[in-house]
This record gives sequence, structure tokens and C-alpha cells, in this order.
Amino acid sequence: TQLRISQPTIVHQSALARLLSTLAVLEQRDGKLSVPSLSTVAAGQKLGGSVTAFVAGGGAKAVADEAAKAEGIEKVVYVENGAYDRGLPENWAPLLVENIKKGGFTHVVAPHGAFGKSLMPRVAALLDTQQISDVTGIESEDTFVRPIYAGNAILTVQSTDSTKVLTVRGTAFAAPKTEGGSAAVEEGVDPNVESPTEWVSEDLAKSDRPDLASAEKVVSGGRGLKSKEEFDRLMPPLADALGAAIGASRAAVDSGFADNSLQVGQTGKNVAPQLYLCAGISGAIQHLAGMKDSKVIAAINKDPEAPIFQVADVGLVGDLFQKVPELTEKLQKQ
Ligand code: FAD
Repeated sequence: TQLRISQPTIVHQSALARLLSTLAVLEQRDGKLSVPSLSTVAAGQKLGGSVTAFVAGGGAKAVADEAAKAEGIEKVVYVENGAYDRGLPENWAPLLVENIKKGGFTHVVAPHGAFGKSLMPRVAALLDTQQISDVTGIESEDTFVRPIYAGNAILTVQSTDSTKVLTVRGTAFAAPKTEGGSAAVEEGVDPNVESPTEWVSEDLAKSDRPDLASAEKVVSGGRGLKSKEEFDRLMPPLADALGAAIGASRAAVDSGFADNSLQVGQTGKNVAPQLYLCAGISGAIQHLAGMKDSKVIAAINKDPEAPIFQVADVGLVGDLFQKVPELTEKLQKQ
């Protein structure tokens, strides 16, 4: 389905005269650049015009120096202040707005993850513009493509806002090479706004496996696994044999088979690996919304009518308790 909507906002004549320039928001953790967040730079390049990257936190200068080597960035603006370390949107929104105003950017792009999703609506509100979420395609500098209704319809949206505030789906914009660039590095403005929010602590799920959101291969288990014991018995050996990350359906997560952080789908993670191999997953639209852009989809399900087979490139109708160990054994022997 293709819908086309124009947002009825007033165009400021001065905005038309401005040269197209994008501020690409990058993420960092513990002084290390998040390479997947460079997808914002790729989106900026697609928009045309110059791309300035933005990074903030304790050790931001070192992250800026690292980002400056990525291809396609003209300048990296950094703000060195530990208050921005954990990406708290209450702290970040005034910071970003100050730097947008200073640079006179026409477009601001953040990754469509937890950070970007909580930050950019605040930024858009402060700038009095509309935010455009989960952009998967750029048709022109003012026309963007994004999924709606859990990916069941594709909306083409045209914005006349003078500053366009976007979050982009990382899997739709391949991050540029992290070597070969030589961007200028410059200090940004720090409004040092007093924030009512304080970062207290976090409890992160640790894994030696590839990161689910950016893995080349993902094996995913659903309610068909029947229990946590069976999930833990069957899925990790299959993942290890393939060098894959582990994912799960919401039903598997809600039933306690797998950790929340492994959920793939509308209310979980978006993945687009080279291979998405799933077992005991029916293929509900909310699950498909998070994985149907995978290059090759392989499914094991005992029900030949399961909707997952409508999107699968390779399907195996059978009992997963038999097929998964068989497949794992064959892969281990390779
Ligand atoms: P089921 O639908 O129960 O499917 C289990 C499958 O396993 C069946 O197809 C069955 O044939 C097969 N099976 C059973 N036993 C075997 C066996 N021995 N061998 C082989 N196959 C077997 N879901 C998500 O996954 N991610 C989301 O982000 C998400 N967000 C949601 C948001 C909203 C607002 C709503 C309303 C729902 C959301 N859901 C999401 C839930 C979604 O609608 C489905 O309920 C869920 O995806 C079903 O998970 P499942 O396929 O594991 O379970």
C-alpha cells in the first residue's frame, strides 16, 4: 500500500534559501563509537548536502576523532561532558537544539533505537516541527518513506518543516566505511542545562554472541519451543554452529523462554541479517515487522499453513525437536 501525505506546515522563505546540511547524531558507549549509529551518516549522504556528525559525553573528543575517519563526514562536532554519557533525553534535547541552531542545519537524523526514539520527539517539540520516525527510504530532501501499521503499509510523507527531524532505521542505511575519511573535528556548544533526570544504574544482558540488531546471521525461536529448558537446549548450539545471534518471538519472551532483549518484531528489535533462521514461530505480522527485510529467511514449522512460509525463502515442514538437532549436527560437522 502506498499512501502519500503532505504535512500542512508553513514554509519559511528564509528556510528555502538555506543550503541543505544534515546533523547526524552518533551514539557512543564507554568512549567507543557505536558503528551501527553511522547509519545516520549514510542517510545524510542520501539527502545530499554536507553531513556533520555529532557526539557528546565524557571522552567525546576521542570518539569524535574516531568518527572523523568514517567516510562521508565533513565535520564532527563534539561536546565533552559526562552528563551526556548515558543518552538521557532530558539532558540531550537542549544540547542538540543548541547545536542545531548554531549550525543552521536543515536536517537532523538520529538512529531509530531507544536513544533516538526518546530524544528526537523532544528535539522536534523544542524546534516546533514534526518528527518523522523510522525512515526506511529517502526520496528527496523533503520526502521520506516509512512503514506504518506494523509494516503492513508504506507511507510516503512530505514535510515542509524548515528543519526536518528524522529517526532512521539502521538496517535500511548501510553504515559507511570507518576508514578513509578525514573530517574536521570541532567543539560544539554545551548549554549545561540543569536536568531533573539522573542516571542511576543499568542492568545489561551480557552475551559473547554477535549483537542481535547488527548480526549477519540470526536464529530465532518461538512458542513452538515449548519451554525455557528446550529453548536453552536447542537454540544456543544452533546459533554457535552458525556463528549467529539469538532472537525470539514475543510469545517466547512472554512465556519466559528467552530474555526481553532478544525479542524481534514491532515491539522488539528490527533485524535485517543475511540469514534469519526461525523455528516454532508462526509469522504474526508483528513479528514479521521486525525481520522481513532479512536477505534469506528460513523457517522450520510443523504447520504447512503457518504464515511464516509466505515470507520464507526456504521452508522446512517438520517437528523442530527433530529438525533443529539434525541441522545443528550437520552444521557442526561442516
Ligand atoms: P505462536 O503464534 O503460538 O506460534 C508457534 C508456532 O510454532 C506455530 O506456528 C506452530 O505451528 C509452531 N510449532 C509448535 N510446535 C512445533 C514443533 N514441535 N515443531 C515445529 N513447529 C512447531 N510478536 C513478536 O514476535 N514480536 C513483537 O515485537 C510483537 N509485538 C506485538 C505488538 C502488539 C501490539 C501485539 C498485539 C502483538 C505483538 N506480538 C509480537 C505478538 C504476535 O502477535 C504473536 O502473538 C507472536 O509473534 C507469536 O509468537 P510465536 O510465533 O512464537 O507463537
